[in-house]
Formats: sequence, structure tokens, C-alpha cells
Amino acid sequence: MLKIAHTICPSCSVGCGVNLIIKNQEAVGTYPYKRHPVNQGKNCEKGRNSFQILNENRLQNPLIRKNGLEQARWDETLDTIVSQIKKYSPQEIGIVASGNCTNQEYETLKKFAESLGVKNIGYNAGTFPYFNFQSATLDDVESSRTILIVGDVLKENPLLGRRVILARENGAEIISIDISANTLTGINSDEHILIESTSQLTEQVGKILPKLDESSTVLIKELESREEFENILQILQESSARILPVLKDCNSRGAMNYLPALDEDDLKELLEKVKLLYVVGDDPASHLAESMKNLEFIITQGPSVTETVLLSDVVLPGTCWAEKSGTFTSTTGTPQEISKILDAPGDAKDDVTIMIELAEKMGLELL
Ligand code: SF4
Repeated sequence: MLKIAHTICPSCSVGCGVNLIIKNQEAVGTYPYKRHPVNQGKNCEKGRNSFQILNENRLQNPLIRKNGLEQARWDETLDTIVSQIKKYSPQEIGIVASGNCTNQEYETLKKFAESLGVKNIGYNAGTFPYFNFQSATLDDVESSRTILIVGDVLKENPLLGRRVILARENGAEIISIDISANTLTGINSDEHILIESTSQLTEQVGKILPKLDESSTVLIKELESREEFENILQILQESSARILPVLKDCNSRGAMNYLPALDEDDLKELLEKVKLLYVVGDDPASHLAESMKNLEFIITQGPSVTETVLLSDVVLPGTCWAEKSGTFTSTTGTPQEISKILDAPGDAKDDVTIMIELAEKMGLELL
């Protein structure tokens, strides 16, 4: 029997609504949620295919490294972690999360780290540092007279791109800046400024500054360093333009309310400094394996097999987005609820439950 359930797309930070099609307890497809205010009845290809991550490479059982990673019972796995954590001082322990966890998972993880006294903690933020200004809304984008776009937002975040196209149809001038010539955003802009390196960004944004006023919006995608973002922000302070940083993952904006934002250098430093690492939902080995080679013990919690899982000493099978309840905060800063639609596969467990059980085994109180 087919079942349809409304949820939030996990595939980028725009926060579109999506309907998940369930057949015999398995996600088999999606279709757009017509009344959702973010995407107004549309999903991009990435969003339409988001159901696939529920079925791919799923972890179904706890694993402990013996002769290779071997299936284990939950109590044995948690006991192994407790005895390992007790061997290290708080300074020797690191905790890293991705931007794809729920706000409730970040809150629990933060409490767990605080009760342990662990300060080496953060989420993989890419190049965006923490920021706390009021960012532009999607309606601001659509009603803008001028939109400056840094990066290929139309390709990477199509339902945000749709608001840009609607603004253009209403007469807005679109200016884009990128290091690539033929970007989708560039093709759909009135002016496309090609730069050789992102070090030229600040200068170019400075040149456009006289065109920006309170009816303008600036969309900023992932840059090469957090300094570039900070420099652009500093220049934009001279204008009254609204700003929308387009963050990487579906809950990057929520993560920054709980955990420090780690860029590539921060993450590298953390991995090289600690001896025991607890990874929640992230895959640092996919880009920083070299920095992980001196780690003595790696615990990975997450829904699927990753390069970090393959390096780990203990693996905790967690839930994927449609198997849990909580909230994701979109890149415009709006928290949106997700509800559990499916059971997690095999012996996998809800991520908050895993953290609480681990804390209880450690004798920690998560206040
Ligand atoms: S724009 Fe982002 S949130 Fe919206 S459907 Fe596409 S991937 Fe999902």
C-alpha cells in the first residue's frame, strides 16, 4: 500500500517541503509539497532524488573492530566506547558533527561534550564562520530590485534560484561573480563578472557597492576561505543591502546555534590535536584522511557507510532524516519540523537515544 508523508528536503539548506512516497515501509519516490511556502509546489532534481539516501549503503548494526569491523551488540559496543573514553583526558578527545543533524541532536551532543569537559568540538561548516545578523528571506530575494550573486546559486540551490528568476521577470537586475565563465547563474544574469581567483572578490563587490541599496539582496555561496566571507561582509556594511549566506548542508544554520563552526583548517587542527575522535554524521576521512592517521581511537555514528566508517574502531548505526523527529533550520534561519516517517533499518537507533544511552553508561548527566 502507498503512503504519502510530508517532510523537509535534506539535500540542501534552502529547506523545501517534499512529499515522500512510501511503499511497504520503503521510500520509493517523492513529489513536491504543493502548499509549502519555500518551494511553492516544486522540487529540484536533487530534492526529487532525496529518498534514495534512505536506501543506500545503510548501516544496520553496531560494529566493533576485531579482525576487521565485526557486527556487535549495542551493550557491548557502548561498553567498549565507555572504556576507551575513560582512557583519555578531555583535551585528548575531539567531537565532530556534520551540518545534516537535527537541532535536537546538536543540543544533546553539546551537553554530552560539556559534561565530559570536551572543548575540541565543532561542526564541519565549510568556509562560513558563525554569523548572527538577520539574513534576507526568500520573499526579500523575490522582491529585490538588484541581486548580486557570488557563486552558482541557480545550479546548486535551484529553488532559491527560482526566486532570482522571478525577481528578474519583475525587472530586477541580476549581477553574478564567479571564477567559472559558463555558470547557470552567469547565463541567467544581466552581468557576469569573471574573476581569476576569489582573492579578487572583495574588490569586485566594492565596485558594485554603489548599485546596492535597501531594495538589493546579496547571495553568497561557499567561498574558498572564511576570511573572504568576512571581508565581503565588511564591505557590504557600507550598503543597506540584505545578505543571504547560502550554507552547505540542510541544517548548517541550526548547527551554528549550538556548536563552533569549523572550516577546513580548524577541522584539520582538531583532528591532528586529539587522540580519540567521535564523529556524528560527518565524513572527515573523505577529505582529511592524512590528518587522521595519528588518531588512536575513532567512533563514528551515522546512517551509512562512509570512508570514516571504514577507518573506525567502533561504528554506531544512526538514523537518516525521514527516520527521526526534530527540526532543521533553513539557510534563511527558519526552523522547520520533521517527523519520523519510517523505521530505521535493522538494529539502527535514533541518534539522540544513542547519545543519551552513551551518557548514561558514562554516568554523565546531560543538563
Ligand atoms: S533547492 Fe535544495 S531544498 Fe529545495 S528541493 Fe532542491 S535540494 Fe531540496
